[in-house]
Amino acid sequence: MTVTKLAADKASLTIRIKGYDLDMINALRRFCLVEVPVLAIDDVVILENSSLMYDEVLAHRLGLIPIVTPHKYLEGGEDGVQVMLVLDAKAGAVTRTIYSGELVSAEDRDVKPASAEIPIAELAPDQSIKLEAYAKLGRGKVHAKWQATSKAVAKPTPIVTIKNASTAKREQLEGICPVHILASKDSKLVVTNPFECTYCMECEKLDPDSISIQESKNDYIFSLESVGSVDAEDILMAGADIMMKDFKDLHSRVDVI
Ligand code: SF4
Repeated sequence: MTVTKLAADKASLTIRIKGYDLDMINALRRFCLVEVPVLAIDDVVILENSSLMYDEVLAHRLGLIPIVTPHKYLEGGEDGVQVMLVLDAKAGAVTRTIYSGELVSAEDRDVKPASAEIPIAELAPDQSIKLEAYAKLGRGKVHAKWQATSKAVAKPTPIVTIKNASTAKREQLEGICPVHILASKDSKLVVTNPFECTYCMECEKLDPDSISIQESKNDYIFSLESVGSVDAEDILMAGADIMMKDFKDLHSRVDVI
C-alpha cells in the first residue's frame, strides 16, 4: 500500500491510497466519523437568562459549537471527561449579539470554541446571560455534536483521458466542467487536476469521441474536513489508531473462542 498526501491544512486533508481494499478505506472513513473523541458542551447550568431565548434553545445552540480539543484529550481522555466554560454577558444601553468567543474556561485555557465568531443570542438593553457550560469528551456515534469531521469521503482515483485534444468542442468542455479541471493550452484541451473530477460525466456526454472518464482499481482518493475541534491530519491518525486497537481487540477475542 502507498499513501500520498495531495493537499493538507488544519481544516482539510486529501490523500491518495493505492493498493488497499475499499472495505478497509470505508472502515477508516467511518472510524474518523464516529470514533474520534472530541469535546462538546453537554451540560449547561443557567444562572441567569433575561434574554428572549429559552434556556433549552440556548443550551442546544451551545452544544453545536465546535470546541477545540487538545491532544491530551484525544490521546488519553476517557469519554465523559469534562471541562467547564463560563459565559457572562450583559448588554449595555444598546442591543448586542453574544458570540462564541465570550465562552471561556478558567480550568483549561486551551479548551475554547473553534471559532470566536459564532452568534449565540441577541441581548436587548440591560438583558444578560450568565451560565456554566460543561464540555464533555464524547464520540460521534452517540451524538453528531461529538463528530470531529463534517465530511469523510472516498472515491476511486479518476482517470481522465483526452482522446482528441483538438476537439471543436474545446470551449464547451471547459465551460461544462463544474470543478474547472478542463482547460486550454496552446489551443489544445488539457486536464489540470484529474483528482478533482467528480464523475459527473457531463464532458463525456457532450463529446464522447474526445474525452473519457474511468475509475481506477484499488486506487482511491480519501478526503476529510474538520469541524475545527481537531486538525484534519490528527483526525485521520486518531481514527486509524482506534481502528487498529479495535481490530487487535477483535483478534484476541477470536483467539479465545
Ligand atoms: S466528469 Fe465532470 S468533473 Fe470530471 S472532468 Fe468531466 S466534466 Fe469535469
